[in-house]
Amino acid sequence: MKRASWLITGGCGFIGTNLVHELTAGYDCRIRIVDNFSVGSAEDLAAVCDFRTASIDTLGKDRIELIEGDILDREFMLAAAEGIDCIVHLAANTGVIPSMEDPEHDCRVNVLGTLNCLEAARTRPGCRFILASSGAPLGEQEPPIREDMVPRPLSPYGASKLAGEGYCSAYHGSFGVSTAALRFGNVYGPRSVHKGSVIAKFIRQIFAGETLTVYGDGNQTRDFIFTGDLVRAVIACAGSDAAGEIFQIATSSECTINELLEELKEIFSSGYGIRFEVVYTGPRKGEVLRNYSDISKARRMLGWEPRGTLREHLEETVGWFAAQNQEAGDRRRETVPGRPSHPEISNGRPGRNGKEKT
Ligand code: UDP
Repeated sequence: MKRASWLITGGCGFIGTNLVHELTAGYDCRIRIVDNFSVGSAEDLAAVCDFRTASIDTLGKDRIELIEGDILDREFMLAAAEGIDCIVHLAANTGVIPSMEDPEHDCRVNVLGTLNCLEAARTRPGCRFILASSGAPLGEQEPPIREDMVPRPLSPYGASKLAGEGYCSAYHGSFGVSTAALRFGNVYGPRSVHKGSVIAKFIRQIFAGETLTVYGDGNQTRDFIFTGDLVRAVIACAGSDAAGEIFQIATSSECTINELLEELKEIFSSGYGIRFEVVYTGPRKGEVLRNYSDISKARRMLGWEPRGTLREHLEETVGWFAAQNQEAGDRRRETVPGRPSHPEISNGRPGRNGKEKT
């Protein structure tokens, strides 16, 4: 492993916990996680690793450390970067809707917060800096999406992420910081418990016995990228010297929402005996109809390649949700002495939530 000491902002979140899980499982490195617990929690992190809670005054003692703190606090970020040679900046105000509700907050977190993290990287000679970006800076474009397209963000979120990409380029150009921005496709996978994105939402709804709603006719497409592939891309990028660059990180395959539903139908019916209902409503306002990426640049320059199939990754994701439900059910039963065990909690097998539907 080229990078020995990692700082991960937002490391208790969905992508962060998956990255920490991969790093602790397969690599010999130190990891420092900075999080303000706005989305993820210390418990979420505890599900993937053993760590010690640290403060700025007690840093550097353990292999995996968690510090509560905010990327908007520049002094804190500079201190947190002590001894670090790779910063993965995941902490962000995510989502188009929140950014429309409060553009100023979105700007502060995603622009000034990113600037603070870049400043932290600047104080560490040779430090690699990786920004988590998305398709939002590009706005509506004719797919496949490529890095050389002119960005035209449609939301404040897209604009703030674009600014972050701009500062990455500038900190490389002006100060020689080894930056890269990764534009993730639609991410799904284990640990997406807090996510409102379509795959996590559908799986939760299916286990809860709810009817799924498709916005529009279901022929809109997305490029769904599995967390396992995504964290390998982050690790490949950390090991690369490609600086001032942007990479599309997705699969290059275009999947309709109807195709996704077909996969879920088969997985739930064959693996869990669960059927579910779907209703179609009007299209979502501002819906992007087609979206998938050309990932040839990442393939070429990072030597990275997504692996496996959508089906395999969906099965793993559904399995993770089922295990979570099982654990929650076990915990609840343990706290009610003498309560008979029954399949009320969705445990991946037919019960209240898994009632047969046609
Ligand atoms: N979607 C849907 N039903 C839902 C949630 C999402 O049909 O309950 C569709 C949505 O219209 C979009 C796709 O799933 O076409 C992906 O939505 P998501 O919000 O996950 O990502 P984004 O639209 O930001 O790419």
